[in-house]
Amino acid sequence: MAVTVGELLSGAAGRLRDSGSETARLDAEVLLADTLRTERTRLIASPEAQVDGAAAERFTAAVDRRVAGEPVAYIRGIKEFFGLAFATDARALIPRPETECLVEAGREEVMDRLAAAARRRGIDPGAPSDGPIRIADIGTGSGAVAVALAVVLRRMKVIAGADVTILATDDSPDALELARENAAGHAAAEGMRFVDADLLPPVLPDSGAPLDIVLANLPYVRSDAIDGLPIAASFEPRQALDGGPDGLDVIRRLLALLPDVLAPDGVALLEIGADQGSAAPAAVAQELPGWTATDEMDLAGLPRILRVARGARPA
Ligand code: GLN
Repeated sequence: MAVTVGELLSGAAGRLRDSGSETARLDAEVLLADTLRTERTRLIASPEAQVDGAAAERFTAAVDRRVAGEPVAYIRGIKEFFGLAFATDARALIPRPETECLVEAGREEVMDRLAAAARRRGIDPGAPSDGPIRIADIGTGSGAVAVALAVVLRRMKVIAGADVTILATDDSPDALELARENAAGHAAAEGMRFVDADLLPPVLPDSGAPLDIVLANLPYVRSDAIDGLPIAASFEPRQALDGGPDGLDVIRRLLALLPDVLAPDGVALLEIGADQGSAAPAAVAQELPGWTATDEMDLAGLPRILRVARGARPA
């Protein structure tokens, strides 16, 4: 029996509200649009449209999953990040909007370095080319950071392979598989390498050539805060969130590797929690004496990126 869009939406929104969703109506609209392969705005514009029984059943199944707390991104199998659609499922963390500023910071870093190299060549046209800028996205998960960066650089005419290479690592083979799918989906796999490693492989690609830019959104949630996260997070891999007692265990392990893997003028840009704006630089001071660590803010004005480099802070 056919029902209308409006009836389905109000029934589902009620169930979702009762289950504790703070975005009940929006969730219902997004899931129905996804079920019917249409735009949310078209549903809103035509509440009287008829939905056939089979589609209504598929919608109810999706709402059941959401009522049980599963994130909408896993139910749809897709999440928008940096204006791009990424495949998402339980193999990896769902890309978060705040992580877009890590991609933006990586893009700026690459463009500054390419501009500086071009200036050097302008002064001395015979100067040997520096080779590609070597980037690593450590703990790539769904591949969102590495792939979004590759796509945005391509739009700026940066040539994958020649101007930049991107190494994407993860210690979860399942996550790496998803990252590869996302790279292929955005035709961004060229110049990108995926390596199954705990942070970094014992020998870096290209005979151990050092990295110029390290990007990482590692797990940084305190173990005792995991249970307090919204129920949706319980569907995500715990190893992608749990950063140990103070949330900085995995970041500290990466910091300890930097002296060996980072080029002399290399930089690491690490996503941190909003409440780690002083603990994270303190961890750098402890692990890497003589290095510099500064916080950069996200769009909400919260500490979000820890910039780590050798030497004293520039005056
Ligand atoms: N920002 C994420 C959250 O609060 C945490 C991501 C991470 O640990 N890297 O759910």
